[in-house]
Amino acid sequence: MDFGIKGKTAIVCASSKGLGRGCAFSLAREGVNLVITARGKEALEKTAEEIRAATGVKVTAVACDITTEAGRKLTLAACPDPDILVNNAGGPPPGDFRNWTRDTWIAALDANMLTPIELIRATVDGMISRKFGRIVNITSSSVKAPIEILGLSNGARSGLTGFVAGIARKTVAHNVTINNLLPGSFDTDRIRTTLTAQAKTRGVDVEVIRKERMGQCPAGRFGDPAEFGDACAYLCSAQAGYVTGQNFLIDGGSYPGTY
Ligand code: NAD
Repeated sequence: MDFGIKGKTAIVCASSKGLGRGCAFSLAREGVNLVITARGKEALEKTAEEIRAATGVKVTAVACDITTEAGRKLTLAACPDPDILVNNAGGPPPGDFRNWTRDTWIAALDANMLTPIELIRATVDGMISRKFGRIVNITSSSVKAPIEILGLSNGARSGLTGFVAGIARKTVAHNVTINNLLPGSFDTDRIRTTLTAQAKTRGVDVEVIRKERMGQCPAGRFGDPAEFGDACAYLCSAQAGYVTGQNFLIDGGSYPGTY
């Protein structure tokens, strides 16, 4: 299927690695020019070069922390009028809520709620005036089924989800949609770091933990960031103009509910 977005421009945040990178690659394969961001310049430039070589699209790499005002300014200066915005940033740390101060919460809200809202605020009116816009927020399965040790993620991302639910109904009449993608367990650096930490704590080989975790998923495996990226590309397609305000779980069947 041709997604009808060839020649459009996308900002894909936090995309040198993992799920953001998967989204950037899938959009590039549809002929979308990209502005990609990440904090580490080296990994970002490497990803930019790989995408250019594989797809031939224009890729601008902006090395910055997207959760800061300066980082967002740099990104928007490179692309003030994107057709597509994919919001993403690193997830908050795990822990016990008793140890979290107000500052801990503000950092999580900044990264996983207020940064996407600020980027939506900066770009959505342009999309409305051009009668095309696709915004996808990478959130987490923790929005549907809270993960006990990830209280900061459960809370901050639910705030974003509630906000999006309201405005996504206001923009769709202008062919501007806003949706959320909720990853379960995907094979990225983030999950590898978590598994290594768990293996150390339990004093077992990381492969033991890996197999255990995969066994807990009905699919019997972790997701591939490319699968996630293709779902993102669909939500950004011309064909998805009637889909807005939705929360799509991509989790290999892990969420146990009927709805
Ligand atoms: P990852 O660690 O593999 O990649 C994160 C990417 O974001 C990297 O390119 C990194 O450079 C960039 N990044 C991080 N913080 C940034 C910042 N402040 N500014 C700019 N760039 C930044 O992580 P991932 O697994 O791809 O996860 C992406 C998001 O999805 C995270 O918020 C994570 O919590 C969430 N998530 C992931 C999973 C999973 O299984 N991988 C599950 C649920 C939720």
